[in-house]
Amino acid sequence: MSVLNSKIPAGPLADKWKNHKNSIRLVNPANKRSIDVIVVGTGLAGASAAASLAEMGYKVKAFCFQDSPRRAHSIAAQGGINAAKNYRNDGDSVHRLFYDTIKGGDYRSREANVHRLAEVSVNIIDQCVAQGVPFAREYGGLLDNRSFGGVQVSRTFYAKGQTGQQLLLGAYSALSRQVSVGQVKMYHRHEMLDVVMVEGKARGIIARNLVTGELERHSAHAVLLCTGGYGNVFFLSTNAMGSNVTATWKAHRKGAFFANPSFTQIHPTCIPVSGDYQSKLTLMSESLRNDGRIWVPKKQNDERRPVDIPEDERDYYLERRYPAFGNLVPRDVASRAAKERCDAGYGVGQSKMAVYLDYASAIQRYGTLEANKLGEIQPSAQRITELGTQVVASKYGNLFEMYAKITGDNPYETPMRIYPAVHYTMGGLWVDYNLMSNLPGLFVLGEANFSDHGANRLGASALMQGLADGYFVVPYTLGDYLADDIRTGSISTQDPAFDEAERSVQDQINRLMSIGGSKSVDYFHKALGKIMWEKFKHCAKSSMLRSGCPVRPTK
Ligand SMILES: Cc1cc2nc3c(=O)[nH]c(=O)nc-3n(C[C@H](O)[C@H](O)[C@H](O)COP(=O)(O)OP(=O)(O)OC[C@H]3O[C@@H](n4cnc5c(N)ncnc54)[C@H](O)[C@@H]3O)c2cc1C
Repeated sequence: MSVLNSKIPAGPLADKWKNHKNSIRLVNPANKRSIDVIVVGTGLAGASAAASLAEMGYKVKAFCFQDSPRRAHSIAAQGGINAAKNYRNDGDSVHRLFYDTIKGGDYRSREANVHRLAEVSVNIIDQCVAQGVPFAREYGGLLDNRSFGGVQVSRTFYAKGQTGQQLLLGAYSALSRQVSVGQVKMYHRHEMLDVVMVEGKARGIIARNLVTGELERHSAHAVLLCTGGYGNVFFLSTNAMGSNVTATWKAHRKGAFFANPSFTQIHPTCIPVSGDYQSKLTLMSESLRNDGRIWVPKKQNDERRPVDIPEDERDYYLERRYPAFGNLVPRDVASRAAKERCDAGYGVGQSKMAVYLDYASAIQRYGTLEANKLGEIQPSAQRITELGTQVVASKYGNLFEMYAKITGDNPYETPMRIYPAVHYTMGGLWVDYNLMSNLPGLFVLGEANFSDHGANRLGASALMQGLADGYFVVPYTLGDYLADDIRTGSISTQDPAFDEAERSVQDQINRLMSIGGSKSVDYFHKALGKIMWEKFKHCAKSSMLRSGCPVRPTK
């Protein structure tokens, strides 16, 4: 039986990372030049890791299946990235970010990792600003913040509704610099199909060149998987369809432990399913809950248009049930509450599986403030709406546009209809404090690992974790492992372990191609995803899990 050792450093929580950095082994600059590192995945976690390791002197080979790292799924992230900067002077601190994350994750995350995450969060923002990431700024020029669910402070840095895209462009520029100086060799359109274990250590991968179809062998002294989450097992999710979990699944088959696989996040604010031919769901960023109010009619099966339902016949159920957090309760709470209201017959829209997210009062509030600022005395209702609409558009314009394009409704005039959807996977490959899996030499970063979010991730903390792992954690911890490899020399791809891994990948491809079936891959994906959604969604209770299949949450 394997015994897991999380290698959490001794000492008080707040000193662990500092002490660890001071005492772990290092690889000197000359030795780094003879060490190869494979980074699979060039989203935020992978691009930041590959760029940082190359900058430090390691020889890096980076892989992604897209035509460019710029198209990693990280680009979809909308709302923002957390950091304990306390720019708003609203009582934030490293401890508070740590505590919120632990509490939001239902006390199931590894505390030492989360404290480190909160500590380095402040460095991430400085790093990204230095790269030129255009975070939103206040009138005076300082970086602006907004709030996300499960917290009572404003600590979320954002670039309109395109934060992931802008952060990824920052990481991509750092990566491109290393590609151009020759420290990173970039393999686009390559899909990793297996990890190669040589004498018990991860020493390479088998990748398929997606342009030629050929299998290739790549060796290194360590392999980093930064390959994202597995939300697509539910078929319909907010994830890119390409996020296919092959890499972590293959690593699991090679013996890497998967932790908390049942911990999937259902995001409360997505555009409801509209038909049978959909392959993807669209997220409406959590940032919209900053100003939007969520409600359903007080009467069951109410067929009136939302604008025809008077205030006192609306149930702002989150504000009613959770007055301290209101509409900004954590995602799991908001999702369960929406489902409960719809199941009880209060849902809206054609399917009755939706609730309203309403901006009418935010538009009025912002409009009045703006009119005051402009010194307009007794502005008309129309003028207030006009001014308020401008403010809302400046904060959330691209999200409103996206909603209007998909649904045909104008969200400035009528409330949006939203419903929970699969969004993020807190589970992933098990890693120790150094982000190494139980397979020596196989490190796992970003959404692909399990460590920081427990049973529920708070909004705006996945970007924080991906960049923390890539820019600030693995550049330290990898050296501790590689210190044993300074005399190893390059790893041969002629080792029998590579023969065996390539043969098994080829055999599997041959097996699949020779089935001669009549149904597409998507057909099976959809059928299996439906089982997952029907049997496992919102299942906080183990009895519901048992009715699906024998998967139990791991603590
Ligand atoms: C719509 C949406 C909005 C979001 N908004 C926010 C937000 O506002 N704030 C926040 O904190 N989080 C947000 N998230 C979550 C966050 O975007 C992700 O958790 C995070 O970006 C994941 O980054 P990553 O680097 O771990 O993985 P990814 O960005 O998914 O990158 C995975 C990489 O691995 C590569 N890859 C995967 N498998 C293989 C393989 N077998 N071979 C080769 N390459 C492979 C891919 O090519 C890609 O380069 C959002 C998520 C979604 C879906």
